[in-house]
Amino acid sequence: MNARTRLLAALGFTALAAIIEAWGGWRAHSLALLSDAAHVCMDAFALAVALLVAVGAQRGATARQTFGYGRLEILGALANGVILLSATVFIIIEAVHRFGAPVQPGGPLMATIAAMGLSVNVLVAVLLRTEQKHNLNVAAALYHVMGDALGALAVIVGGVVIAYTGSAWIDPALSLFVAGIIILGITRVLRDCAHILLESVPQSMNVAEIDAQMSAIDGVVEVHDLHVWTIGTRSYALAAHVLLNDRRLSEATAISDALEKLLRERYGIGHVTLQFECETCEPDQRIICTQLAR
Ligand SMILES: [Zn+2]
Ligand SMILES: [Zn+2]
Repeated sequence: MNARTRLLAALGFTALAAIIEAWGGWRAHSLALLSDAAHVCMDAFALAVALLVAVGAQRGATARQTFGYGRLEILGALANGVILLSATVFIIIEAVHRFGAPVQPGGPLMATIAAMGLSVNVLVAVLLRTEQKHNLNVAAALYHVMGDALGALAVIVGGVVIAYTGSAWIDPALSLFVAGIIILGITRVLRDCAHILLESVPQSMNVAEIDAQMSAIDGVVEVHDLHVWTIGTRSYALAAHVLLNDRRLSEATAISDALEKLLRERYGIGHVTLQFECETCEPDQRIICTQLAR
């Protein structure tokens, strides 16, 4: 099975689990199970986005999307985060309400459905395990799915305890626990999205170090207006002004080759735009650019 087939299978199982958990939560009057269904829904959405990105990445750039569709991933993750955050607010309000006016959930049904959810977690983890080394998206999805198993496990134990003791308060308490897991997941995703939308320097890179490496290349006097940003997962871009000592154009080509080789091989930056200068540009020419403090 290739990565895309595995993702598609994982998406199918996860979506099915979300539907069954939602049905079970409604039938068993269990808010905890409904919360877990919302959580599994989030995972299905994330897997759908990962699949979309895998398809989009193959399409490459078009006449209108000159950077390709790498940012679809960010758009999808952002939508997922906002939708799930509203679901979490609903869960918390309903949980508080149920502490005051307890609803007796059906423990056995709760535990059975959550056990089904847990087995889907394990199945999806196995499906994605072999791919995670090659693909960051899949690795993130897998990491998430393993964290989810904790939520499902808590609902199973809760269902069994409710079946034996009849303590209704366990259900809203568990739903708050599941809401906590969802919020942790969303926070991580939204932080990564903000990082990319703010055009931040990729976390694995240090712009001062890149500047030093570029300036160390023979013929380069200095580098300014240096920008490094992320387009999509593992797709980075760099733009810079490079001051050279006066030389022939053919010599400048060798320098540009050396710079591109350095940036591609050492930092994995595939999209490099360099502007060669033989005099530093005037400050008023770079009003909107920020020069790196040295
Ligand atoms: Zn999850
Ligand atoms: Zn310049």
